[in-house]
Amino acid sequence: MSDMAKHQCGTENCKKSATLQCPVCLKMGIQGSYFCSQDCFKGSWKDHKIFHLLAKGKESNAYNPWPYYTFSGKLRPFEQTPRRLVPESIPRPDYADHKKGRSESEEALRGNNIIKILDDEEIEGMRVACRLGREVLDEAARVCDVGVTTDEIDRVVHEACIEKECYPSPMNYYQFPKSCCTSVNEVICHGIPDLRPLEDGDLCNVDVTVYHRGFHGDLNETFFVGNVKEQHKKLVQVTHEALMKAIAIVKPGERYREIGNVIQKHVHSHGYSVVKSYCGHGIHRLFHTAPNVPHYAKNSAVGVMKPGHCFTIEPMISEGTWRDVSWPDDWTAVTADGLFSAQFEHTLLVTENGCDILTKRRNETGNPHFMDHM
Ligand SMILES: [Zn+2]
Ligand SMILES: [Zn+2]
Repeated sequence: MSDMAKHQCGTENCKKSATLQCPVCLKMGIQGSYFCSQDCFKGSWKDHKIFHLLAKGKESNAYNPWPYYTFSGKLRPFEQTPRRLVPESIPRPDYADHKKGRSESEEALRGNNIIKILDDEEIEGMRVACRLGREVLDEAARVCDVGVTTDEIDRVVHEACIEKECYPSPMNYYQFPKSCCTSVNEVICHGIPDLRPLEDGDLCNVDVTVYHRGFHGDLNETFFVGNVKEQHKKLVQVTHEALMKAIAIVKPGERYREIGNVIQKHVHSHGYSVVKSYCGHGIHRLFHTAPNVPHYAKNSAVGVMKPGHCFTIEPMISEGTWRDVSWPDDWTAVTADGLFSAQFEHTLLVTENGCDILTKRRNETGNPHFMDHM
């Protein structure tokens, strides 16, 4: 018995014994690809080279839940970890235990434009929830770096919430599977944390909402991962400026529809666009409620600001088109052209002569990746 006869030719229907190995397979460590002759090898090349692609895929991310979906940009989904649990001892919103994640308290008020005026006790509840939300986001900022997965950021957010006796509001909200949203590069918002390691040059937005003793506090920031290109840094800077300019007009008597005019004017002057599908929102005992706060100009938002109103401003600004499309997970919103998008968010309280930024940063330890470059 000869050693040479161990392998059969890799060409379909060629049953000859084979000793030649594909050089690419050898280099990649793929075992068992033999051919009887150069001719057979060449004739099989078109089918054979798929093995190289498959092996390459395994090294990075072979996971593709939607083989027939055409992605608008370069980002791909990675596998998700199992759901994390929140201890029963922490008070939870109504949707937390709903089979479909529906919030019946929110749905009861859908289509209602009446904006709740919070009393002193409710305002104090919002101050505490928003301060805790800020602390949680600052912890996420500290770990957001090259090689760290968005799932790891979610774990940090989840555990920080529990430590502060907060329920992470996104968890099970209309069946959202994680404790925060992580939106990378062309993702506009509502990205689901997964096992993709962040790469040098990524933008990563982390959106945190916590529910503490009956009140939600909501904020987000876009972080630089490693060395970010100047063009993307500029996008992030202009987005932050747009949010701060909008906050500057918040005071009693101002119309909610003015916010979009201020944001769009600034953003267009730098050649960027304003996403239209997602808006700021009223927030207090409910996660999302009246008012609706569009970020684009000439919108028809209803309502005038009054002391005691609580709402978010959270502009999503894109380098190219304002149009968004959704991944088949029905959450991840990406730019239709695959160019990058950035976002910042604060929860605001309208006061007698202006507003309080309830989610403002209280120390300089948070978000070093962002501050370094501003
Ligand atoms: Zn948010
Ligand atoms: Zn929000």
